[in-house]
Amino acid sequence: MTSAPPFEPTVERNPHPRTAGELDAILADPGFGNHFTDHMFLAKWTPDEGWAYPRIVPYGPLSLDPATAVLHYAQEVFEGLKAYAHDDGSTWLFRPEANAERMQRSSHRLALPELPTEWFIGSIRSLLEVDGRWVPRGEERSLYLRPFMFASERFLGVRPAQHVTYGLIASPAGAYFPSGVKPVSIWLSTEFNRAGPGGTGAAKCGGNYASSLLPQQEATEHGCAQVAFLDAAEHKWVEELGGMNLYFVHADGSIVTPSLSGSILEGITRDSIIALARDLGHDVVERRVSIDEWREGTADGSITEVFACGTAAVVTPVKSLKWDGGEAVAADGEAGKVTMDLRSALVDIQYGRAADRHNWMTRV
Ligand code: PMP
Repeated sequence: MTSAPPFEPTVERNPHPRTAGELDAILADPGFGNHFTDHMFLAKWTPDEGWAYPRIVPYGPLSLDPATAVLHYAQEVFEGLKAYAHDDGSTWLFRPEANAERMQRSSHRLALPELPTEWFIGSIRSLLEVDGRWVPRGEERSLYLRPFMFASERFLGVRPAQHVTYGLIASPAGAYFPSGVKPVSIWLSTEFNRAGPGGTGAAKCGGNYASSLLPQQEATEHGCAQVAFLDAAEHKWVEELGGMNLYFVHADGSIVTPSLSGSILEGITRDSIIALARDLGHDVVERRVSIDEWREGTADGSITEVFACGTAAVVTPVKSLKWDGGEAVAADGEAGKVTMDLRSALVDIQYGRAADRHNWMTRV
């Protein structure tokens, strides 16, 4: 862990924050990832100083030298989590220390310095202190938080950067499915892999997403919302989607999710669903799931529901798996009961409508 001086950010207020009217118009229909708050958080790391210069500044473009290492070698990691408004006006985070720790693991894999958990959570608190009015109220609305870290050294040699920037930006998000939760179709990528053994699949780094864009484009062309990836070695085992983890509900009530193979991202939603499903009395099993099991299980009824989970869309029913020449439909294409019960159990905790039995919520 990198040693860090005490966390005492300076604050430079935006002289031109959005007016109340402008903010109301944005929050009326925020969409996802379109609008950013009035401020952002920045800090920098060098081997000599460690983490230093924590600061809140007006949101705006970064000026980068064309030789900045991240632009060439993609030494970069990021995170994604949300701030939720509760009915009493308070604002809460869901398991932020889990995101901080995952970012530390991602940083380690990308040879970036680890940001201490106090700095990670401190950056969120200090941004929400100045931009708290941006947390949207209402059903399934949230302020999406995007921490990121990149090699900001101006140097073209291939080695870990000696100057690193950490930033945090925030973007109000509306309900992911404005017209209610809709089962989605998934495209099976047979040509491309997302990650291989020993690669960066378990890290949340930009390169993983860059390589998923072409197969994702293929998915969109086939009318599918996301792409499913198989393991790179045998091309047999189900790994995950481009941006979500997968779950299979069996006819006997047990719930199966692909075990962490080293090339799957350890989703915080995935981990939370394991606990919530056990609370609801399900047997939860982490094991390898073959693509044949998915196809045959949905056909013969031994798999009754398939769903995907992640921070952005929470829990999403999967109605079918499509591939070149075929389709396997689960649960007659409808959102299943177990899927929707787990979804409610999770969002009820996030929005303060249910007891926080696992101590997952942090008040800001
Ligand atoms: N897999 C991938 C590849 C992802 O990008 C995400 C989103 N972070 C997830 C799974 C789900 O992770 P989480 O539940 O932490 O959002």
